[in-house]
Amino acid sequence: MSESKNHIVIAIDGPSGTGKSTTAKMLSKNLGITYLDTGAMYRAITFVAMSAGVTPSDKEALLSLLQKTVIDFDSNNQVLINGFSQESAIRSPEVSEQVSYYSAVPEIRSALTAKQREIGNKHSCILDGRDIGTVVFPNATFKFFLVTDLKVRAARRYAELIGQGKQVTLQEVEENLRLRDSIDSSREVAPLLKAPDAIEIDTTQLSIQEQVEKIQAIVSVVA
Ligand code: C5P
Repeated sequence: MSESKNHIVIAIDGPSGTGKSTTAKMLSKNLGITYLDTGAMYRAITFVAMSAGVTPSDKEALLSLLQKTVIDFDSNNQVLINGFSQESAIRSPEVSEQVSYYSAVPEIRSALTAKQREIGNKHSCILDGRDIGTVVFPNATFKFFLVTDLKVRAARRYAELIGQGKQVTLQEVEENLRLRDSIDSSREVAPLLKAPDAIEIDTTQLSIQEQVEKIQAIVSVVA
């Protein structure tokens, strides 16, 4: 549990495409607490590195980029990189293809984990990611782990990307989710893992509204 009764941290982890971000965003509004999309932070540094031609194995260049890059969010939770909105760029299929390789780099993880803890320690916060309940906030007030059938996740993500005008096929989306899950789960540092004390929610049959209601019913006892 968090130290202060009024300061709460809600961790939402799970594989790609389980509806973590949408759920967390809606809950943050309902509960009036800060939302932190940690995946956006990994996407942002991936985008910066790719744009600079820096590969995941070039630790020195990555460290230098990390020092020069300020990742932030505007009031609509859109990612800002050095003050510029890059929300669309970090969601591109190219970044989605590469992000798991960059997010497996320990130097990147420790820099972003520190930033996430700084934000979560300052404000009551709901964070979504892969390692929030296990590594970033092992003492989170609440921990949830969302799971969803892969085909359902792929169909949802495909519809979202097509809606944004992105050129992708359903097969590509499914393959990307499968590959990212596999890399995220098998990396050495902070792998995607359900914390032993996390509440697992299978969202395969649930609408976003139902997901939100289910989690809110549990957290509203304290929040
Ligand atoms: O949440 P989203 O799918 O946008 O995350 C993109 C990628 O960022 C994940 O596939 C994973 O490689 C990485 N990530 C991570 N740890 C987190 C959040 C995201 O490694 N806490």
